[in-house]
Amino acid sequence: MRQTDPFWWEAAPPQTLPQIPVTPTCDVVVVGAGYTGVSAALTLARAGRSVQVFDKMRPGEGASTRNGGIASGNLRPGYDELARKFGQERATAIQTEAKIAREDLSDFIRRETIDCDFKMTGRFSGASNAADYEGLAREAERLSRQLGVEAYAVPRAEQRAVLGTDFYHGGMMRNDIGGLHPAKLHAGMLRVALESGAVVHGETAVEKVRATGIRFEVTTARGIVTCDHVITGTNGYTDGSDKWLRRRLVPVRSRLIATAPLSVTPLQFASR
Ligand SMILES: Cc1cc2nc3c(=O)[nH]c(=O)nc-3n(C[C@H](O)[C@H](O)[C@H](O)COP(=O)(O)OP(=O)(O)OC[C@H]3O[C@@H](n4cnc5c(N)ncnc54)[C@H](O)[C@@H]3O)c2cc1C
Repeated sequence: MRQTDPFWWEAAPPQTLPQIPVTPTCDVVVVGAGYTGVSAALTLARAGRSVQVFDKMRPGEGASTRNGGIASGNLRPGYDELARKFGQERATAIQTEAKIAREDLSDFIRRETIDCDFKMTGRFSGASNAADYEGLAREAERLSRQLGVEAYAVPRAEQRAVLGTDFYHGGMMRNDIGGLHPAKLHAGMLRVALESGAVVHGETAVEKVRATGIRFEVTTARGIVTCDHVITGTNGYTDGSDKWLRRRLVPVRSRLIATAPLSVTPLQFASR
């Protein structure tokens, strides 16, 4: 049988929330209840703002429960390309920001006691030839020196202990990259946002947003809301209710491959 839902929804399916009445006024309307919308709602609710979040599907049913769960401060383009485009100082600042974002995620998960199987597994980047390996070794040295990231080169002779294969010409290990259960993370974020006072309306589409002087009128499938601010977190699911944003989306295909658990993990190697 063809399975169209992610297998990992079995452990954390998107929730159907009770449909409560839409309040006609609030400080902020958030469109989309993925990580972006729920995170914004949590921050605003804790700052004392009245927030209503609307999602046309069940909260989190978009990319936020379907993704690969890689929690990484790694950026593309890499440092060399960033430095070519923006100069070394800016390139370092951009990469530092990415590193801080990943650290912030770890802190958030710990602070809010979100059970989402978060593990710092590390990540191995394999070299396809000897020159590639030299480049990765330089990258490991730079990451460690400039950003304080625990990164090191793994010569070909030692990579079997890391990856269980001799396929690559060695590679680079970064210990600051991990993985988590994406749907459990979303469920935890939704829980803390609701506990903080944010109101989340699932299965309620935003159909139109209209500026009315300094306020906004938001037409939803279950009522009209007047608010001071609108935050859009609709990602690739953006529809005709935001034509300006929709015109700016470019579809990109993505696939995930899951294996059975590997017997040797990089951290076992690192801690030898
Ligand atoms: C296959 C895949 C793998 C990925 N792997 C990773 C990974 O390993 N690591 C990583 O960090 N990132 C990964 N990502 C990216 C990550 O999933 C997204 O960046 C993140 O989930 C975006 O969250 P979001 O809240 O912005 O969007 P989403 O979670 O997509 O939420 C957008 C929401 O907006 C709602 N919406 C749209 N229009 C309306 C409307 N008119 N009214 C009401 N609601 C509306 C949708 O219903 C949807 O729920 C991956 C993405 C994909 C697709």
